[in-house]
Amino acid sequence: MRLFAAVVPPEEALRELGAAVDRLHTFPDADGLRWTGRPGWHFTLAFMGEVDEELLPELRERLGRAAHRSESFPLRLHEGGHFGRRALWIGAAGGLDAMRMLAERADAAARRAGVAMDEHRAYHAHLTIARTRENSDLRPYVDALSGFEGTPWTVSRLVLFRSNLPRSGTAGEQPRYETVESWPLEG
Ligand code: ATP
Ligand code: MG
Repeated sequence: MRLFAAVVPPEEALRELGAAVDRLHTFPDADGLRWTGRPGWHFTLAFMGEVDEELLPELRERLGRAAHRSESFPLRLHEGGHFGRRALWIGAAGGLDAMRMLAERADAAARRAGVAMDEHRAYHAHLTIARTRENSDLRPYVDALSGFEGTPWTVSRLVLFRSNLPRSGTAGEQPRYETVESWPLEG
């Protein structure tokens, strides 16, 4: 199964983001983007990819311990950015050091559970709102998000998600992301 660990913003923050993204949909080339599903909006902490079912008990155990050791932290949605011409995202501000620490612990938990994790890249907190279908210039979208600040909240849970890749012809049949388990941050 395909797994990743993430942080999910609360309803209020998601509503604020929804309103900002609605405005982006009015851009002339907005149809050239593949907008991500709103029910699935999240900040990925650690992407595990395909994980052998056998590893799941130990993975859950270790992620639970990582959450137990980690402190809750403040976060807010903050401006936009892009990765090349590929992805448009909303950034975060507030407890970014604590978030990076949580991401590193989730990564380490997965490694120790035997998950083959990609090489370390610098962690960059982002919530992907669109991916490109064509070679789109994402800068106008980022400019439009300049100054965007969401209401702060306290991140107090680590969530392990299963990602169901869409199979052609069965769109909407199963949830895109399913919660496997979530743990409170109690450090
Ligand atoms: P799709 O792949 O259909 O566009 P998706 O990227 O949302 O959808 P997944 O590929 O299962 O679904 O990814 C789940 C989450 O993990 C997303 O936030 C995605 O950006 C992130 N992710 C996916 N692949 C990687 C990777 N190689 N490294 C880091 N994060 C990744
Ligand atoms: Mg993907």
